[in-house]
Amino acid sequence: MSNSPQSWYQASAHPTPAAPRLDGDARVDVVVIGGGFTGISSALALAEAGRSVLLLEAETIGAGASGRNGGQLIAGLRWDASALVDRFGMAQGKALFDLAVTALDRVRARITRHDINCDYRPGQFYAAARPDHVPKMAKEVAFLHNVMGYDHVKLIARDDVHRIVNADGYYGGIMDRNGGHFHPLNYLIGLAHAADAAGVRLHQHSPARNIQQQGDKVIVTTDHGIVTADHAVLGCDSGMGSIRPDLAHFAMAVMNYNIATEPLGEDRARSLIPANAAIADSRFVLNYYRLSADHRLIFGGGEKYSPRPPKDIPGFVRPHMTRVFPSLENIGIDFGWGGAVGVSLNRLPVMGREGNIFYAHGYSGQGAALTTLAGELMAEAIASGSTGFDLFAQLPHRPFPGGRLLRHPLYVLGMLYYALRDRI
Ligand SMILES: Cc1cc2nc3c(=O)[nH]c(=O)nc-3n(C[C@H](O)[C@H](O)[C@H](O)COP(=O)(O)OP(=O)(O)OC[C@H]3O[C@@H](n4cnc5c(N)ncnc54)[C@H](O)[C@@H]3O)c2cc1C
Repeated sequence: MSNSPQSWYQASAHPTPAAPRLDGDARVDVVVIGGGFTGISSALALAEAGRSVLLLEAETIGAGASGRNGGQLIAGLRWDASALVDRFGMAQGKALFDLAVTALDRVRARITRHDINCDYRPGQFYAAARPDHVPKMAKEVAFLHNVMGYDHVKLIARDDVHRIVNADGYYGGIMDRNGGHFHPLNYLIGLAHAADAAGVRLHQHSPARNIQQQGDKVIVTTDHGIVTADHAVLGCDSGMGSIRPDLAHFAMAVMNYNIATEPLGEDRARSLIPANAAIADSRFVLNYYRLSADHRLIFGGGEKYSPRPPKDIPGFVRPHMTRVFPSLENIGIDFGWGGAVGVSLNRLPVMGREGNIFYAHGYSGQGAALTTLAGELMAEAIASGSTGFDLFAQLPHRPFPGGRLLRHPLYVLGMLYYALRDRI
């Protein structure tokens, strides 16, 4: 993504800690590959647990999805809690849900402990884009209250939606006070400073070219040095194919695009989203949006199943925004950018280990919060064993069908079918 246009996040980013290219060989307890939320949070937790850690980032910290996403902190997994219980039974389903929602506590704990200035705001609203989505939401809210003991959510009636978001076309929704939004790149940079202070060796412009287990050691080769470690953590998400193509088949990269309007001024911005919550709607190809601290609308909408970005990203996303907010038809758009969302076949994160190599990817659009949890669970598994890691690692996953050549075309066909259902 190094050639993609500058994002509003890059334009408003805090300085990153020094992280020179790796030059020379190194011997550490743990080598971490990937400078996104997964890799940096794992490296930080490992250093806090007393391990020597070296992190390799192919480009720059935040070059992947962690520095480009919508900043929506969404509680739980992509499955409804009731679906988790139906599929895995009460004990395992509830344990998964309970663990997944702690992701938000872990993000907030990091923000507080390291004093990370990332514009965190509470509140996330899931808006019903069709009338038939409302009864399902009502059932889920009752299940969350009565069975899961999760009382942060409230069902919002159609007539009350305007108190949260001033847009037509929503039939109600679920407000989750435990969710929220933040400036993702500044959160990541804050984590990187904390990792640096905890003793993690950070190396940008240092792609890992090869990883091998030799006896009880892991050997990672880069262009300018070899790292030998007892354990490795792979936090490469959509870049997994560059180092472990076999694992990459368990997730597919879907391109997604965001825009930032010109600053709207506080009053106009608040008139669009009075609750200042993160909003995501229930369409299959969803719209998701929120206000920035400098009163812009940050809007994501539309998906592209080819890796090539549209020539004009603002032109690609703008129609989705004006369908939600017609009053913004003539507003200036200062930034447009995109990135790859790693999506697994069943939409649950793919976590596991092979010998001394741990990995987590395929968060399916909910990685802003889940990555801090996944990174820390891998660190706990390495440092002291973790039942939380085991719970995720037990989840069943299959690679996308179709083999190397047909996998992507088959996936695109499937996605287009569901995208079409949004329009009927
Ligand atoms: C446009 C967009 C909007 C999104 N919106 C949201 C949202 O609102 N809410 C939400 O929850 N999720 C959202 N997501 C998803 C979320 O951003 C991701 O799930 C999350 O950031 C993944 O973090 P990560 O650290 O695992 O991967 P990444 O942030 O992608 O980091 C992986 C890093 O690994 C590096 N790397 C890869 N291969 C190698 C190698 N061989 N050697 C060294 N380094 C390597 C890459 O350069 C990259 O920096 C969005 C994603 C995108 C693209």
